[in-house]
Amino acid sequence: MKTIGLLGGMSWESSALYYRDINQGVKAALGGHHSAEIVMYSVDFAPIEERQHSGDFAGNEAILSQASKAIEAAGADFMLICTNTMHEAIPEIEKHITIPILHIADATAEVIKEKGIKTVGLLGTGFTMERDFYKGRLKDKHGINVITPNEADRKIVHDVIYNELVHGKIVRASIAEYLRIIKQLGAQGAEAVILGCTEIGMLVKQDETEVPLLDTTAIHAQKAVERAVG
Ligand code: GLU
Repeated sequence: MKTIGLLGGMSWESSALYYRDINQGVKAALGGHHSAEIVMYSVDFAPIEERQHSGDFAGNEAILSQASKAIEAAGADFMLICTNTMHEAIPEIEKHITIPILHIADATAEVIKEKGIKTVGLLGTGFTMERDFYKGRLKDKHGINVITPNEADRKIVHDVIYNELVHGKIVRASIAEYLRIIKQLGAQGAEAVILGCTEIGMLVKQDETEVPLLDTTAIHAQKAVERAVG
């Protein structure tokens, strides 16, 4: 079995889900008393969040590159970054390590293509919904069309993530707002909606909407299991 590196803490609420899902997946695959071989580096989210919103991208690249070097040095065979947003730092991180990074958008795109889906909706932080590192990768590398909510709804989605979900807070009114936005994306032609932030799966569940949901945390964890035991 390969050792999985996890760069977590963004937020720890979703890193805990990765830890659980990966261990459950390895146990399901190998049975008995098996569990995953994991090296985890969990960062303090406060300076990361501060730099995201102040635009100090290089500062975040430096923190995450250092943490990734530590993960490699601790023996990981490959690694996951347990947040969609900070995948933007991959080009810089890759300069500091030799182990491969299992990209969350590639893992999700594999599932999208297996399902024969051509157009998806995308929910995530404003950074993920608005910048090209994620949408662009889905489109250019995988040929998937991506629809995002309008500006007002993107702000709602973003604010719920940073004010509630990363603190582990589940607010009923926010569930309703997310379900409304998901329905709207479906009406605009999205055949499925990517929960492109690793905490959104804590808020909305598949049985609450007819639009198929693609939970990036669950998908990313499952692909890591396949790679580790496969
Ligand atoms: N976990 C989130 C994501 O998947 C947001 C927190 C962060 O900014 O890293 O994008």
